[in-house]
Amino acid sequence: MRVHLINPSDVSFGVAVITPRWLYVLASATPDTYGVPAIIDETLSPLDPDTVSPGDVMGIGIHTGNAHRGYEIGRIARARGAFIVYGGVHATLFPEEAYAHGAAHAVVKGDGDLIWSQVLADIAAGNVQKLYDGGRIDGRSFFKGRWELLPKDAYMFASVQTVRGCPKHCSFCSVWRTDGQTPRLRGTDDLVAEIRELRSRGFRFILLADDNFYPVTKTDMAMASRRLDSSSLLALEAIRRERFELMEKLAELPDDMVFMTQITMEAAEDTEYLDAMRKAHIRGALVGVESVTAAGLKNVYKDFNLTGDALVEQLRKFREHGVHILASFIFGLPSDTAETFDATATLAQAANVSFAQFVLLMPFPGTVDFEKWEKSQEAPSIDGVPLTRHWLLPPMRRPKVYTPHPRMTPEQIRQLTQATWDRFYSLSAIWQRSDVIRSAKGRLAFVLISKLYRQMYANTGMATDSARHVRASRMSRLLARPLRRLFVAKATA
Ligand code: SF4
Repeated sequence: MRVHLINPSDVSFGVAVITPRWLYVLASATPDTYGVPAIIDETLSPLDPDTVSPGDVMGIGIHTGNAHRGYEIGRIARARGAFIVYGGVHATLFPEEAYAHGAAHAVVKGDGDLIWSQVLADIAAGNVQKLYDGGRIDGRSFFKGRWELLPKDAYMFASVQTVRGCPKHCSFCSVWRTDGQTPRLRGTDDLVAEIRELRSRGFRFILLADDNFYPVTKTDMAMASRRLDSSSLLALEAIRRERFELMEKLAELPDDMVFMTQITMEAAEDTEYLDAMRKAHIRGALVGVESVTAAGLKNVYKDFNLTGDALVEQLRKFREHGVHILASFIFGLPSDTAETFDATATLAQAANVSFAQFVLLMPFPGTVDFEKWEKSQEAPSIDGVPLTRHWLLPPMRRPKVYTPHPRMTPEQIRQLTQATWDRFYSLSAIWQRSDVIRSAKGRLAFVLISKLYRQMYANTGMATDSARHVRASRMSRLLARPLRRLFVAKATA
């Protein structure tokens, strides 16, 4: 009974940017009695069905974006006699779909770290259950990745997780509902030991794949204090203290290490926190700006973000304190007009953010937006598939804009979004942004990574025809391999 763990993908680049952490965590959670699991990351290369034998176990992790390919793999592997088990956010939200479309024997909801060995034991005993609930495990129980199984020279950045869960409740995000609103912190010593191992394997760039690296804001503490809620205040202070302790430990790591993470914009008000991040080698952060207008922020329940000059000021704060930003904006919000696109590009440039992404409003399952959208639909369908189950369509058949807009057509929104990507990532604009980097090698890396980022995340997401999709993949392959060398160090392990 060989265990296979697979990250499904419709496109393979040969080299990938970030290690899919869950594959290596579940490999750690696989008891030795079942041998060494076969790990397949289809963003590198597609599954070879001939490697699957009768009686094997195929663990398939899916999110909404790759569920279609995941179900296809399940059907292929089941036809070859394997046991099919699904996990991941999408399987947690729609377990019944995995049986109907993905030939599942079993589905695991929630965190897989602890329950995976039970699933395997039940399969081995011929007693597999249809549904397992892994729940939300405590941060101290998070498993490390089994990094000795990494393929050679395949990834640019490694990934670890320092905290799961986010106390916010943005309407387009499912994190607070699936991972919970109580931050679950991983133990600092385990985490630092894992990072040291990754460094010894040659990774200088590591993604802190957290839901929100700043789980306690100064405003949260002030509010608890005003409410005279001493137990909440103590709990918040303890979390904050532990974040600083973690950052102090990260600061002791070799100077050539670079971490990136994901954080809310409120961190700009906490310059003590930003300074600790810089000392801890955290040089980049994805910040969800979402909209540059107050109406847009209200649309997504994120009115704790600022707008206008105050927003520019806040974004600049990160850079002033040594943290580069990948600012994320959403287009297609009900309050957006044709002017919003231009205003967003202008603001991103004025705020001096290093990278930006412009994503189309898409109601993701598990979110408040999705529920509202699902209720409001009169069930239009494409090829017999209701639009509210769009992920069941092959990627090329999916629409690019899902929610009707009061003023703009889907094609207008798509074109204006594409134009914003083009403007932000024009060679002259990238070159201008790269002037903060002193070395020629560093500037070159910045230009190449900017172009690669645009190719991977703009063109493939926005492409309307398959030829363009193939061209984008080819370009990404060409850029990715030489670029990888700029990010890694010599392995010592
Ligand atoms: S978008 Fe970010 S801040 Fe909002 S709920 Fe999701 S993880 Fe939290």
